[in-house]
Amino acid sequence: MNYATCCKPIPGDSVIGHFTSSGLVVHQERCKNILSVREDPTQCFPVNWHEKLDREFSTDIKILASDETGLLATMASAITSSAINIESINTQELDLGHIEFTLTLQVKGRDQLATLIRKLKTLKNILSIHRIHDQEMRQAKTLH
Ligand SMILES: [Zn+2]
Repeated sequence: MNYATCCKPIPGDSVIGHFTSSGLVVHQERCKNILSVREDPTQCFPVNWHEKLDREFSTDIKILASDETGLLATMASAITSSAINIESINTQELDLGHIEFTLTLQVKGRDQLATLIRKLKTLKNILSIHRIHDQEMRQAKTLH
């Protein structure tokens, strides 16, 4: 069983299995790549998370913040003190005084991610945080 890289499901997400030539691939139920086939029982199969998955999953979050010296260090320490590994951080300067961080994190599941997001939202200068694929999928759902 493989996990799709398009929508990067993590434990706690609603998921669906898609039969492919290389086996069953797990997508988020709302993934735009399987929207057209998810009702087809010859192609898709309902799956559930195993209760004791002892591994970590990659997830991407986007953080909009006011540009402030030291913010990245403060964020990174909040993340690592939550026992979450940072795979990568990309920084993009937006307009005047705003900055956008794209972080790839290793999490155990939605609960751990939600706890982290709550914690990060309490930091000064952070304006918004969201999981990238959640937003993309909301858009996909509206479009179809
Ligand atoms: Zn997908």
